[in-house]
Formats: sequence, structure tokens, C-alpha cells
Amino acid sequence: MSSVRVRFAPSPTGLLHIGGARTALFNWLYARHTGGTFVLRIEDTDAARNTPEAVAIIFSGLKWLGLDWDEGPMGDGTSVGDKGPYFQSQRKDIYARYVEKLLSEGKAYEHEGAIKFRTPKTPITVDDLICGQIHFDRTMDPDLVIQRKDGSPVFHLVNVVDDLEMGLTHVIRGEDHLSNTPKHLALFEAFGAQPPRYAHIPLILNPNGSKMSKRDEGASIGDYMAKGYLPAAVRNYLCLLGWSPKDNREVIDIKEVIEKFDLPQINRSNARFDLNKLFWINGEYFSKSTVEELEPLAVEVLQRANVLPADYDKAYFHAVFNIVKEKIKLAGDLPEWMDYFFKDDYGFDPAAVNKVFTPAGFDNLAKLRDRLSRSTAFDWASLEKEFKALAAETSQKVGAFIHPARLAVSGKSVGPSLYHMLEVLGKERTLTRMGRALELKK
Ligand code: GLU
Repeated sequence: MSSVRVRFAPSPTGLLHIGGARTALFNWLYARHTGGTFVLRIEDTDAARNTPEAVAIIFSGLKWLGLDWDEGPMGDGTSVGDKGPYFQSQRKDIYARYVEKLLSEGKAYEHEGAIKFRTPKTPITVDDLICGQIHFDRTMDPDLVIQRKDGSPVFHLVNVVDDLEMGLTHVIRGEDHLSNTPKHLALFEAFGAQPPRYAHIPLILNPNGSKMSKRDEGASIGDYMAKGYLPAAVRNYLCLLGWSPKDNREVIDIKEVIEKFDLPQINRSNARFDLNKLFWINGEYFSKSTVEELEPLAVEVLQRANVLPADYDKAYFHAVFNIVKEKIKLAGDLPEWMDYFFKDDYGFDPAAVNKVFTPAGFDNLAKLRDRLSRSTAFDWASLEKEFKALAAETSQKVGAFIHPARLAVSGKSVGPSLYHMLEVLGKERTLTRMGRALELKK
């Protein structure tokens, strides 16, 4: 292991924001690139927001994205060390000790019950690994409250104490913290400690250029989990928010990103969030994954939507998924595409009924059903021959049979390839469904 130690230090807010997830990812990438250590620290000193649910959301989001941390239990029983993830709420004694130290050295003082740190009134230049040299005046900076009247320590103090105590070598975080950095450097100096190197990542903006907030569409990692996105695709997209392999490729294997990732090449301008691109990347990952690889996700999405029963027929499910997969790009669309395969009382799209179930349409459906009831082979190629033969015998286009057949067996006017669909449904189901549709004629 190299000596690099980085951390992700989220405050539990109730969601894992896309900006936070990207900060976690860039820290993780840097740790994996350098062979260093990735620490997770929960900044939960704000008691009002500090709920177990809010913390669980951070854990589950990071685990979903495959961003494993190196110290402490993983939340699933496995352990990779005896330290961390760290919770600031459990470290109050440590912070008190540091406040005490500043007080005893005259670097802090009591003021109306609170403790204030004497901030240096001298200019300082932050040498940031991404933003470059940033100058701060500081001559007018007021002294900094580091401990409130109620005894609780303030963010700036706990953040610095932990970065120091945890031996972190690099602080990679959002640019919204750049203006805090002079304060943090002053505290490091007061503690007589070497500060870490700072790397502030530019913000993520909405397509219209405004700063992305937690209410904006696509802002929460939980949304992607719920909608059936592939974690590798979301992670791939997050890599591109500020980093790129410099050759216009957008679908990149994470192993290659780890190999190439470094801090100085992170883009200095703000990144624009583009949901369409994320959707496209997800489609690329979805298409190149095999049915077997996607099966666990598909089953989860379908069961959550009550489409797939708990005791589903594995072979039938597999056959259905196989023909539907090429038609979609997002696992979240599976329920809509697959529900009628698993229930017999599906409804019929009214617009399609008007158009397709005309007297001639019903007539053709009846003829087709009659013919298929006598066919022995029910594979897609034989079915195609039957349809074509019937069309030729009745001097009609094959579509005159395809459209009523599709509507009859699925209730819809779009879906997977019809011949394949009938093969998967099988002869018995197909005939029963066509019979049910013919009832509509009366
Ligand atoms: N808890 C802070 C936040 O979520 C972290 C600040 C830092 O990374 O130093 O913004």
C-alpha cells in the first residue's frame, strides 16, 4: 500500500446526491490508482439530521456503486479492518481535547459561552491540485467559533481534527469547500501539523447552468437504484463529470479509469449534468450485458413491480427476457414490456382495438387461430411459414394477421418480434389468448 490516504466525508442528509457520489468516486479512484487507502467518515455532528436511515442511504448508495471503503465493517457483515467507517458523533472526546489544547496555548478563547479561534489576519495562498494557486486575503476575517455555547464542536474544527487524526494525505472534495480551506489551513497550523494536499472538484451544474440541488431531476443516486439503472453505467457516467480519457470515448471500463485517473487532469471548469447521456450510457451497458448477467436485476425490478411471482418458472422467464432485452435500454422498463407474459387478464389498448379489431381483423384472427390449432411445430420459423402461407392463400399482406395476433396475445400494438413471442408463449397459451380476444367481437 502506498502512503496515500483519502476520505469521503458525507453529512447524512437523507439522500446520496450525485455530487457527493462523484466526490466519493474520485476519492476511491485516487486511492485505487495509487494503491492507497479510502476512508469513509460520516460527518454526523448535526443531531437533528443524524438518523440511522440517512446513514443507511449513504452506505447502500456507495455499495451499489461498488465504492468499497478500506477500514471497518462493510455493513454486510464482512470486515476489512478494525477501524471505521468513522462516525463523528462518536468522537466528541477527541474534539474536546483539541479545543482544550488551543485554549491552553492561547490560540482560542471563551466568548459568551462559546469558544473562538484566533484566526490569522495574514494573506494566504491555497495551492490546490485542481484549482491551482488561490489567494485569500484574510486580513478582515473574524475569529472563528469552534465550539458552540451548548458545547458542540463546529464543522471546521471537527473536519480538520479528523483529517489530522486520520492521517489523510489528500482532501478531495467539492469546490463549495474551497472558501473554507484558508480556515482549515489556519487550524492545521495552530495544531502544529502538516496539512493534507487539497483538491477541489468543480461543481455539477444543471443543463441550464444553474447549480444542481437535491431537488433537481436525477440528483439522487437512490432514483437510479429505483429505476433499474446499472450501477456500472452510473459510475461510468460519474467518472465523466470532470474527468475524461481525452480521446472522446464515453464508455470506459472502470479498470482503465483506475489506471489513468489522476488529480491534476481533473477539469477546472464546472461539469454539466446530462441525463440523456447517462441514459445512453446505461443503454450501452444494458445491451452489451448478457441475459444471465442482467437476470438478478431484472428479477428484482419485476418482483418489486409485482409482475413476477416469487415462484416464477425460470425457463419461461429466461425465454421471455431473451426476446424483450433487445428492445429496451433500462431495466426499469421491464415491467411494462413483460407484464402480459405473466398474467392472462391483461387489458387491450383501446386505440389499437379500434384500429385492428375490425370485422376483417377478427375474421383473420379466427382463421389464424384455426390454422395454428392444427400446426404441430410451434417454433418461430414454422410460425412464420404458417403466417405467410395463410396470407398468400387469402391474398392479403402478412401484416393483416400479425397485427390482430399481436394485439390478441399481448393487448398491445408494440412488443418483441411476434413469431418469437408466440414461440415463447407456446401453443396452448397462444390459442387461449386468441380465443379470449375473439370474445371481444360479441
Ligand atoms: N461533510 C462535508 C460535506 O458533506 C464534507 C466536507 C469535506 O469533504 O471536507 O460537505
